[in-house]
This record gives sequence, structure tokens and C-alpha cells, in this order.
Amino acid sequence: MTVKYRVGILGATGMVGQRFVQLLESHPQFEITALAASDQSRGKTYAEACAWRLPGEMPADVGAMIVQAPQPPLDCDLVFSSLPGEMARETEGAFARAGYPVISNSSAFRMDEDVPLLIPEVNHEHLQLLARQRARFGGRSFIVTNPNCSTIMLALALAPLHTRFGVEAVVATTMQALSGAGYPGVASLDVVDNVLPFIKDEEEKIAEETPKILGRYDDGRIAPAPLKVSAQCHRVNVADGHMAAVRVKLARAAELDEVRAAFASFTSLPQELRLHTAPERPLVVRAERDRPQPRLDRDAGGGMSVTVGRLARDNVMDFRFVTLSHNTIRGAAGAAILNAELLLATDRLAR
Ligand code: NAP
Repeated sequence: MTVKYRVGILGATGMVGQRFVQLLESHPQFEITALAASDQSRGKTYAEACAWRLPGEMPADVGAMIVQAPQPPLDCDLVFSSLPGEMARETEGAFARAGYPVISNSSAFRMDEDVPLLIPEVNHEHLQLLARQRARFGGRSFIVTNPNCSTIMLALALAPLHTRFGVEAVVATTMQALSGAGYPGVASLDVVDNVLPFIKDEEEKIAEETPKILGRYDDGRIAPAPLKVSAQCHRVNVADGHMAAVRVKLARAAELDEVRAAFASFTSLPQELRLHTAPERPLVVRAERDRPQPRLDRDAGGGMSVTVGRLARDNVMDFRFVTLSHNTIRGAAGAAILNAELLLATDRLAR
């Protein structure tokens, strides 16, 4: 029998933390041995502390665990973090300094020069940056981050276009689900019968993270991809599933069929390595004129595939399309778990 890696979840009671618990319930390589959250949860069982908001039951063994403070030591080999950005820098840094690999969802370290902003299908070579973190944290501990939930689906869709044709500019208009704001999140009176045209820091994150993700690793650093990104973000009355209307300008001329084929044929290292959480197809292309839709498409590939539809030539830019993905799975917990699976498969996780 293979011995599983013991994982701790920081921010375990939140929307992303709950997804971690759900996705790790029967994971073949990881088992949850520690949970941490804020003062108000500390010392309670997970069942008492957590307002479980996912379909299906909270796993009984996790429900009985005691929630601890998010500070080392915790009884685990690595930590997944879904802490709020404001406190993540200090806390995640403390875990890395204490010898724990940190696989983070929060924004705190994403743009640090020596920290991979990882999407395994897009930029697995950025993991070479980890050698630079030895100077900062020592030993084999490190911090690896996943991008913002809207950035992930955008970068995944852009990746095959960037490789084949070069992406010069992208304009993305997002429609983001309520679970993206955590729990309890947006007040119901603000969002029923309404759309909110502001999500704090979201447009800036998409604009700065996308060039880093699509950038090239070169001699110990990432050279950002030279593309212009313009994003406008909206909170809409949908439970799960972020959507974006996207327009791209390409460096080289392309036919519509070539663009469609670039999306549809896209696979990468996680698929080759058959990582547990990797979807068979990172991008699912829909031809129907009214897809993708959050309710119908967010669970594609177990929530790990990004659905692309409405692909057409554009009168102002070159092409336009609509993307959709599950914000707490591919956009958060599933992304971090896939990152951990890649780190394990490439022998970067020490016990
Ligand atoms: P959330 O539902 O508000 O959950 C926040 C979690 O952090 C809870 O477990 C909470 O514990 C804990 N926490 C809050 N303040 C704390 C403190 N001072 N000390 C220790 N723990 C504290 O938020 P979320 O949606 O899960 O998001 C978590 C992180 O993931 C954020 O950085 C967010 O930007 C990022 N993210 C979210 C999504 C998404 O779709 N939701 C996607 C990508 C990335 P208590 O229950 O005890 O308060």
C-alpha cells in the first residue's frame, strides 16, 4: 500500500477550504491530517466550525477533526493555503521557513520573482524557479501559487494560441460567480436582480498575472510574455462558474479552423503523466451557439476543464470567444491539488 502524503489546509472552513476537503476525500496520494482557520473556529471540530455549503455530506472523519491555528507546527508534510490574501504573506512565509512546502491559492506571493505562478498544462517549466527559493527558505520547502480564478481560465485558453500564433493583446470581460467572493460573500440585497461592475483588485490581477504565466523561464527568471491585457470584471448572480467574453489579437495570421483546432487538441504534461486531477481535455470546445453556460458547463472534466465556445472572427481584434470554468475547482482547490500532484510526480516533494 502506498503511504499518502499528509496535508494540512489553511483556511479550511472557507469556500475554497471546503472544496479542498471534498476533492481530497478519496485522493490516492494525499490525506488530510490538519485543518486551520481563524480564532472563531479554533478548538472546535470542523463540523462545528464550518458552514458546509457544498452538495453532498462533509466527510465524517474530517468533520471530527479539531480546527487549529494557522501556524507551524502542524501535523502534516505540506500545506494547502486558502487564507485571505491580507494575512497569507506572513502565515505562508512562516510555514515555508518552518520547512513545509506551501501550495497556495492566495495572491500574496504570486508575483514574487522566485515563485512559480503555476498552471501545470501551461508553464510547468517555471518550477525551475524553486531552486532560487532555497536561498530564501532553505532545505526543500518552497511556495508555489496558482493564479487568480479568472486568470486561470483565461491563461489556459490563451496558452495554445500563444504557442502557435503569438497573442499580442487580449480584452476580457468577466462575469464571476458568487462563490468567488467566499462565504458569506456578497450581500443578497446587493446581487439579486443585479450585476456588480466591481471586484476589488481583480482587473489588476488578471492584467499582471497573465503575462507572467505565459512568460518564458530563462536563466533563473521569468521573462513576461509581451502581451497587453485589458480586463473588466463583474459579479453576477450565479453560484459557481466564472465566465469571460474574450477578444484576442494575434501576432500571426490564423484561420478560424486553426484556432479551433489549437483549442481542441491542447494537452500537456499533466495529461501525459496521467495526474489524478488532470482532465482528459484541459479545453472543451463547444459548437452550440448558446454555450458555454455556468449551470451546464462548470462541471466539465470534473470541474477541471475550461469550456470555450462562441468562437468567431472579430471585427476589431482578430478572434473572440467565451470561456467558462469552475472557480473553486479549476480556479482554486483543484488547481492547487493538480500543482501538488505535479510536484510529487517530478520528485519535488520531500516528506
Ligand atoms: P472564505 O470563504 O472567506 O474563507 C476564508 C478562510 O480563511 C476561512 O477558513 C476563514 O476561517 C479563514 N480566515 C479568515 N481570516 C483568518 C484569520 N485572520 N486567521 C486565520 N484564518 C482566517 O474565502 P475563500 O473564497 O475560501 O477564499 C480563500 C482564499 O482563496 C482567498 O485568498 C481568495 O482570494 C482565494 N481564492 C478564492 C477563490 C474562490 O473562487 N472563492 C478562487 C481562487 C482563489 P473562519 O471560518 O474561521 O473565519
